[in-house]
Amino acid sequence: MVVVKYKRLREKMVKTQIEARGIQDPRVLEAMRKTPRHLFVGEALQDQAYGDFPLPIGKDQTISQPYIVAEMTQALELTKGDRVLELGTGSGYQTAILAELAFRVYTIERLRELFINARKLLDQLGYHNVVAKCSDGTLGWPDESPFDAIIVTAGAPEAPEKLVQQLTIGGRMVIPVGNRFSQKLLKMCRHEDGIHQTDLGGCRFVKLIGKHGWKEE
Ligand code: SAH
Repeated sequence: MVVVKYKRLREKMVKTQIEARGIQDPRVLEAMRKTPRHLFVGEALQDQAYGDFPLPIGKDQTISQPYIVAEMTQALELTKGDRVLELGTGSGYQTAILAELAFRVYTIERLRELFINARKLLDQLGYHNVVAKCSDGTLGWPDESPFDAIIVTAGAPEAPEKLVQQLTIGGRMVIPVGNRFSQKLLKMCRHEDGIHQTDLGGCRFVKLIGKHGWKEE
């Protein structure tokens, strides 16, 4: 019964928050219909997991609002053969959505407790195409680069050059860039002749902290 309840909440979430705001990629919509978001938050918050807002996941961090996850994922234009780098594993929810749509996901989280929880849950749910590590993601993952897509789920003062260099030609990166309180969601596409940038609109993320992000306070 509980499973049916959450499935119904997911259908409603996709219809009223995601499709209604113009997300059309059928693969993204399907991944969001399928992925059990309530398992990525603490038990006390499970009934709120399909609401139109971010939720706390501990350590002062948040799981992003469903619409933002859909918008960022659609912007990555993933195909089944793609290798994706994610910075900011957090709860692992965005990671799971990416794992549904790509060949392999490399995800980096700087906080050990979140890394361990997400790793465990992703394993339990059978996401075997996820490679996770605990470190500063602002350096990227040089040994596994280049990537067809890079997603940064924390706000940066600017797009780290090290990351841009780890995109394939034709690769796409989505990253929130701005100050500590508000950012612009940027989509950067690497072409032969350089980087083409599009502004997807305003957003608000927790800070990307690291060598090429914000300094730790
Ligand atoms: N996508 C996640 C969002 C988590 S919030 C979700 O849906 O749950 C952003 C995460 O980025 C936090 O967990 C934070 O600890 C992490 N983070 C911040 N700076 C980082 C860095 N330099 N490298 C890796 N992770 C980082």
